[in-house]
Amino acid sequence: MSTLEAPTTPVGGPSLPQERRLVTAIPGPRSQQLLERKAAAVASGVGHTAPIHAVAAGGGVVVDADGNSLIDLGAGIAVTTVGNAHPKVVAAVQAQAAQFTHTCFMVSPYEPYVAVAEALNRITPGDHAKKSALFNSGAEAVENAVKIARKFTRKQGVVAFDHGYHGRTNLTMALTAKAMPYKSGFGPFAGEIYRAPLSYPFRDGLTGAEAAARAIALIEKQIGADNLAAVIIEPIQGEGGFIVPADGFLPALVDWCRANDVVFIADEVQTGFARTGTMFASEQFGIVPDLITTAKGIAAGLPLAAVTGRAEIMDASHAGGLGGTYGGNPVACAAALAAIEVFETEGLTDRAQEIGRILLDRLTRMQASDPRIGDVRGRGAMAAAEFVDPDTKEPDAALTAAVAKACIAEGVIVLTCGTYGNVIRFLPPLSIPDALLHEGLDVVAAALEGR
Ligand code: PMP
Repeated sequence: MSTLEAPTTPVGGPSLPQERRLVTAIPGPRSQQLLERKAAAVASGVGHTAPIHAVAAGGGVVVDADGNSLIDLGAGIAVTTVGNAHPKVVAAVQAQAAQFTHTCFMVSPYEPYVAVAEALNRITPGDHAKKSALFNSGAEAVENAVKIARKFTRKQGVVAFDHGYHGRTNLTMALTAKAMPYKSGFGPFAGEIYRAPLSYPFRDGLTGAEAAARAIALIEKQIGADNLAAVIIEPIQGEGGFIVPADGFLPALVDWCRANDVVFIADEVQTGFARTGTMFASEQFGIVPDLITTAKGIAAGLPLAAVTGRAEIMDASHAGGLGGTYGGNPVACAAALAAIEVFETEGLTDRAQEIGRILLDRLTRMQASDPRIGDVRGRGAMAAAEFVDPDTKEPDAALTAAVAKACIAEGVIVLTCGTYGNVIRFLPPLSIPDALLHEGLDVVAAALEGR
């Protein structure tokens, strides 16, 4: 196969020029060629949002194989929160990789894993005694949280919620609420999983207390606390549409769980690590989960995930019951320690709040002149616009997809989400400069105006 001459590959990180720069159509010829190789070599079930191939990223941009520089409003699905190729993360990864890359923590333990567990025990909500266990992906963390809750309670039932997303493994598919594209044809699914209604203020008009009472009534009638090991919920539904529950919904669920010996698991895989303007979203809703699952932002892009929670629950498993070959890989742990230091020393919760103000202000102003934006919502740098038919509030997935596609063609990476596919979500890296964020939102506004 002929290869096109590559533009000089830039070094990633914050020193990349912070600009939107289109030197070819999207995709350009090199990305096109790579996409053809992808189509031939990679299983077609593995999709992609932006038809480019990345060669470098940092600050608020992703540079593609043709030399286009795209504004990044997705952070690799809420992962590169500290910024892509953050110099402190790069240095930590390089140093650890030169030291050793693997021994298996279950064979010969090492300090970076223990230090990550200590940090998570310290920074997660609540001042009770905590312990952690490390894994590779968000789905794996969720699977393990369920294992741990079942072992501790000696019960089996698990309640997840409408619009919930917890992963693509068998148990987490069962917990996930959306058939297409996540579950369809992939069953049978794990048993003893039940679904309760969420609080979705834009669509249900209920107060938090009312929505919680509705969920609890269903749980008591259909499952019974005696059979229930855990309730698992994202404090803000991510893939399900960036749905912020009404005030009081989450605290009422937590209170019910406490009163009924049910483990309350907050899945903070997407909301965690400064994204929402606090280190964890649970803090904003005034709840202290029994267990918390984390991944994504934890290690700035290296695969790492964790379950953190009450020591007595975390210790319920027999020795050898938890683990995995790669869980808590030392290079990923080194990245996490650097990322956590950045979160804590570079003011990233404040930065997420600032970005949130810009996002909500701009989106609310767009909404004022365009009734197809039915709802604007979010916390910190996790904000979204929901597109609807202005008369009926029916979801408008076609408009959403068209706007997202137009943005990408103009050099702005935006992601969609939502049970009905009618939400554009904004979750930029916190390292994005304000000017670039505004420019990205200008492109979104123009894309919307144009249709
Ligand atoms: N839980 C939540 C809330 C998520 O957003 C995700 C990923 N989108 C997962 C779990 C699964 O994480 P992973 O893709 O790392 O398995």
